[in-house]
Formats: sequence, structure tokens, C-alpha cells
Amino acid sequence: MKTAEDYVASLRKRNLRLFVKGKRVDDPVDHPAVAPSVRTVAESYRLAHDPEHRDVFTAHSRFIDDRVNRFTHIFESQDDLRKKTEMQRVLGRTTGTCFQRCVGMDALNALFNVTFEMDEELATAYHPRFLELLRFAQREDLILCGAMTDPKGDRRKAPAEQPDQYLRVVERRAGSIVVRGAKMHQTGVANSHWILVMPGRSLADHEGDFAVSFAVPVDAKGITLVYGRQPSDDRRLGCDIDQGNARYGGQEAVVIFEDVEVPLDHVFMLGETAWANPLVEYFAGHHRASYGGCKPGNGDVLIGAAALIARLNGTERASHVRDKLVEMVHLNETMHAGGLAAGARGHRTPAGTYMVDPLLANVCKHNVTRFPYEMTRLAEDLAGGLLVSMPAAEDLEHPEYGELLKTYVTGARGTAEDRVRVLRLIENMTLGATAVAIRTESMHGAGSPQAQRVRMEAQANLDEKVANAARIAGVAPVAPTAHRPVEAAGVTRR
Ligand code: SF4
Ligand code: FE
Repeated sequence: MKTAEDYVASLRKRNLRLFVKGKRVDDPVDHPAVAPSVRTVAESYRLAHDPEHRDVFTAHSRFIDDRVNRFTHIFESQDDLRKKTEMQRVLGRTTGTCFQRCVGMDALNALFNVTFEMDEELATAYHPRFLELLRFAQREDLILCGAMTDPKGDRRKAPAEQPDQYLRVVERRAGSIVVRGAKMHQTGVANSHWILVMPGRSLADHEGDFAVSFAVPVDAKGITLVYGRQPSDDRRLGCDIDQGNARYGGQEAVVIFEDVEVPLDHVFMLGETAWANPLVEYFAGHHRASYGGCKPGNGDVLIGAAALIARLNGTERASHVRDKLVEMVHLNETMHAGGLAAGARGHRTPAGTYMVDPLLANVCKHNVTRFPYEMTRLAEDLAGGLLVSMPAAEDLEHPEYGELLKTYVTGARGTAEDRVRVLRLIENMTLGATAVAIRTESMHGAGSPQAQRVRMEAQANLDEKVANAARIAGVAPVAPTAHRPVEAAGVTRR
């Protein structure tokens, strides 16, 4: 397993084509837009070597018969799923932001199952190929960026009607394929080693060119990364007092694939349209449960910051302040309970891995689209208006009025700088760079709320619930009508 230092050194060997605000970045590892992400992901390596955390951050892999970082592990028991969630909570709490490594872990687990099941049903030979990649990823302790979301363009149109909006195969050669398109919202890609590409939706029979999954080095010829600007980027370049969380941060990018050649050895789906949806289901299930680990970990930081500012303000004994903190704890632990429950109800798959309970995974992620918003509201309430009206660090140090300002921003305890730092941390998590992780990313990452509601309806087994209620009520169950009449839905027939 790599150390944190090995990881950072390995990133320097890549020849990335990365642009930040229109400028090519030659050394992404040290660039202020990327360096916090590097330090964040490096914690996943550091903690794997920490005796206190070794049990949840590592596992034994039967594929290389060695201990591996859990982020490259295939889940083989319910206990593995529990440890994954607990590992994510520790990392979320350690960094206070998105630590970016879960997408690759969940993609590995999804592809493990789908390549196995495809080979069983279609007599293809994807699984042995995939196992080679898995062994490589485990031995090298790689960061794999999972890439699923296509741009989608006009949402009314299918991929075949607007091929540029979906990543696709544009040429099939003897030993390789050539792909073109883009993947959006690529978490952590600028500090990854490889990209693991998957289709992002179900596909029709004639959409075989879009049914493609493969692995490719992040610096392969034809790949361009365009950094996604973040709300408080400008502050990232300023002094660390004003950044709130100067050490850690997440990072997203658009990844453009301009005729990228991929050897067939690294291709795990090529035209099997019927398997695109199962791949999305496996991935989405695992990834939606992941949010029951990372977001409560981030929530721990936000709750801690809210409690700390109350103590600095001298309000911590007020009953309404304590009650707000209790409410935050309740919301946070409810998110975590969803992630743990999805794993505890995990089941064995045909390939011998463990898959989370899909309904509970969707419920978990759906809570995550809501609860962080209420938690950030409560944190802002406890922080007070100074959260957004605090003068800059340069003002506090100003020779003419700095000392006076410090008098006016000092609370019940601690120094003026302490209060500034804690308020900036809350600002960072509710309005700034990390808010991307704890709010908007909570909304849309691993699928927007409606995606979970669609799956929850499909997985809820309403017929069984109706039959049970009918039995208790002593009536006959009633089947739903095949299709809801258009008039009943309030739509005028044209
Ligand atoms: Fe992991 Fe959470 Fe970031 Fe997704 S949002 S990569 S689950 S830390
Ligand atoms: Fe995410």
C-alpha cells in the first residue's frame, strides 16, 4: 500500500492536460485549486497506515493475496460494507470535505459484478480482463476516477438522436476502440491516476456505441480536464485564516475525450446495451449508500464548528442553542443510519460480492439531499450574521483600525482570530468551497432526488403492502389500473 508521500509523488509523474480558468496548469499537484484535493485524498493513504484506523481502512484481497487499501477492495461481506461506511465517516470527519475516492471504489464493485454476469449470460470474456485491472489497481493502490455522467444536452432526446452529448465509440480497430464525448462533474479527476468510464443510463438495442465501459490513464492522449470553478475559489488564493478550511477541499472537472484510443484489454463493455442499466444500478446502489458515510463525517465537522462558535459567543448554555445542536446530531445520525442499514441488509451477488440493499441505499441518499440543507441552516442560525459581514484578515491586521476591529469581533472566549477562523469554517461549509460537498453535491451527487424517488417506487413493493393491509382490514386487495387515464391526471387530450 502506498503512503501519503508515495501518492503525492506518483501524481507528479503524470502528464495531465488540465485547464484552470482558461490556463494550462503544468504542475497540478501544487496549484492552489488542486493542492487541497491532493492533501484530502492523501489522508486516505495516511490513515491506512495508522494503527488506530487500519481495520476499517484496509482489507485482505484474495485477488492479490495481500492487504489493500479498502478503496480498492471488493466487498465480500456485510461487515465489509459496514467498514466501508465507517471509513467514509472517519475521512469525512478528518477532512470536512469530499475525499473523492469512493466513486472509483463503487465503480470497481459495480464492474466486478456486471462483467461476471455478462460473461455468464453472453459467454463474453470481460471478467478476466477486469480482474487484471483490479489486481493492477490494488497492487499500485490507485485512485480511480469513476466517470458516469454524460452531458445529456436536450433531455428530451435519446443518445442516438444527439450522439455528441453521450460518450461513445467512434471507431473499432483490431486491438482497440476509439471513443469521443465528455463526462461531467468528475470528482477528484485532477488528482487521480486512471479513469473508469461507464454508461450513465439504460440504452436501446440500436444504441450499442454508447454501451461502452473502459479504463484509461487520466493523462491518455486526447483527454482534457477543465476544472470546475468553486464559489470561494478566489479566497483559496488568499490567506489561510479567511479560507476556513485551508488544508482540505474537493475538486470537480469536465473531462473531454477527443478520439481517445483504448486497448481492448481495458474495455469491459462494448455494445451490450442490455447491461448498461444493471451497471448503473450496481454503481448507484453502492454510491448512494456511500453518502451515508461521507456526509455524516462532514456533518460532524459542521456540528463541531457550530458548537464551538456557540462557546466562543458564550451562548452554549441557552436551551434553544442546545436544542439546535441536538437537531443537527439527529439529522446527521439519521443519514449515517441509512448507510449502515443498507450494508447490514446487503446480499450476496452471483459473482460472490456483497451488494447493499438498494431501497435503503436510495432512502439514505434521499435523506442526504435534504438533511444537510437543514443542518447548514441551523449552523448559520447559531453562527450569527457576522458569518457574512466579517472584515477580511487584512483588516484585522490593519495598523490604524485593526486593534479596534479585533475588540469588536472578540466574543466571550478565545481571541478575535479564533472567532474569525471558526466563522470562516462555517462559511466554507455552508456557502463556500466545501458547501459544494455538503449541499449541492449532496443534492446531485450519485443522482438527483428524483432519481432516488423513481427507484424507491420501483423497489417499494406496494402490491405486497396493499395485500397485507387488505388482509388486516379484511378486504380483497385491489390491483392498480394498468395505466392512469390521461383525464384523471388533469391533462387535456389533444
Ligand atoms: Fe465519496 Fe462522498 Fe465525495 Fe462521493 S461525495 S466521492 S461518496 S466523499
Ligand atoms: Fe459524489
